Amino acid sequence: MNDSERDDEDDGRGELDVEALLEALRAGELRLHELEDHADADVATAARRRWLEGETAASLGTVGEYAFPAARAEPNIENMIGAAQVPMGVVGPVTVDGGAASGAYHLPLATTEGALLASVNRGLSVIEAAGGAAARVTKNGMTRAPVFRVEGVVEAAETVEWVGEHLEELRAAAEATTSHGALLDVEPYVVGDSVYLRFAYDTKDAMGMNMATIATEAACAVVEEQTPASLVALSGNLCSDKKPAAINAVEGRGRSVTADVVIPGEIVEERLHTTAEAIAEANTRKNLIGSAKAGSLGFNAHAANVVGAAFLATGQDEAQVVEGANAITTMDVRPRDGDDGTADPDKSGDLYASVSLASLEVGTVGGGTKLPTQAEALEVLGLRGGGDPPGSNADALAEVIAVGALAGELSLLAALASRHLASAHADLGR
Ligand code: NAP
Repeated sequence: MNDSERDDEDDGRGELDVEALLEALRAGELRLHELEDHADADVATAARRRWLEGETAASLGTVGEYAFPAARAEPNIENMIGAAQVPMGVVGPVTVDGGAASGAYHLPLATTEGALLASVNRGLSVIEAAGGAAARVTKNGMTRAPVFRVEGVVEAAETVEWVGEHLEELRAAAEATTSHGALLDVEPYVVGDSVYLRFAYDTKDAMGMNMATIATEAACAVVEEQTPASLVALSGNLCSDKKPAAINAVEGRGRSVTADVVIPGEIVEERLHTTAEAIAEANTRKNLIGSAKAGSLGFNAHAANVVGAAFLATGQDEAQVVEGANAITTMDVRPRDGDDGTADPDKSGDLYASVSLASLEVGTVGGGTKLPTQAEALEVLGLRGGGDPPGSNADALAEVIAVGALAGELSLLAALASRHLASAHADLGR
């Protein structure tokens, strides 16, 4: 964006220019976060950048070359100095037969890891040759789990009983704060004199963490009014947000989504230069046994690569890659029948491949999805903004990301099974 375009976006706060702001910063009259009170967002951003250049040996010309009005990013960042530009590429198209997704999709991915898109694209082309993948969101619930203090187990039991009998009252309080969110369930957990209530919401097309937090705060007021419990923290870590946690892997958080495909044996051999049997063995020994031995929460090869790159491209909360990549990959041989209709032991089998992401927290409204480049990436998918019906765009996004993750798993496992991994990276020079 050039200066005259930025002028068009002037938000009317432009009293001081960059030099005046710099002077005030250096004199200690203004603090870094106060600049937007005295200038429009782009001027404040430029002054902060210039100040930082003066304080360090850094030259921030590229950081300052961002292509949107800084005011658009005000809900998303404080102390803005510019933008971190991560290369964005595209993979696909791939046909997705989903509960919400339907048809062919191009998936934008932002990453600095060379060879990632080439690898995912190879997996997608194999899935496409097999007729596309199926995908379904099988569970949906964004959670917030406040922790309450009680006197002891007697009060804890009393609180849990009250919650069980008054879900409608909690629902009314929570849903009064949102026109889209719906309270699905409240699951209690007791540890000594602490009571945790894990609230789960259908947040439609929003990832929903703000929505769920605001709604839960309102419900907590009712719990405190009607029971002996006192709220200690609105988040008690049983939610569990942005931490590796078994509860998300077992109970799910955000969308629980599975994608799968059956790839004919000939396609595995022609396109992946290996066999269904070799891929299935690599998956069992690596993703299942190796992960179990490592005490891993995820049983996959690199689902985080696709989840992370899709999150960056489409404006998701990148810290939620922690639980978003919580996935189990399965690869099994489906024997091929001979002419007599029974399984033919001489024929290499077909490959059944699946990836199940237990806690993929995604949205197509709110948060970072409104930022211009991220909104454009969602447009590539045809999933920008609220869906019709509400929730369908976020469901479809989850399904397409799951198919992307499936492609990444297939390609990497095939490279390992055919012993091509190192040479593929060497060929691409990375
Ligand atoms: P949000 O930016 O607060 O926006 C969501 C709002 O969009 C909803 O509350 C809803 O308003 C509205 N909306 C409009 N059309 C909608 C549709 N079709 N479906 C659903 N909602 C629709 O975002 P959020 O998704 O609740 O939270 C995501 C943000 O929270 C991210 O920026 C993330 O980084 C941040 N975050 C917050 C916390 C926290 O503890 N607060 C923790 C982690 C992350 P109504 O509710 O009025 O219907």
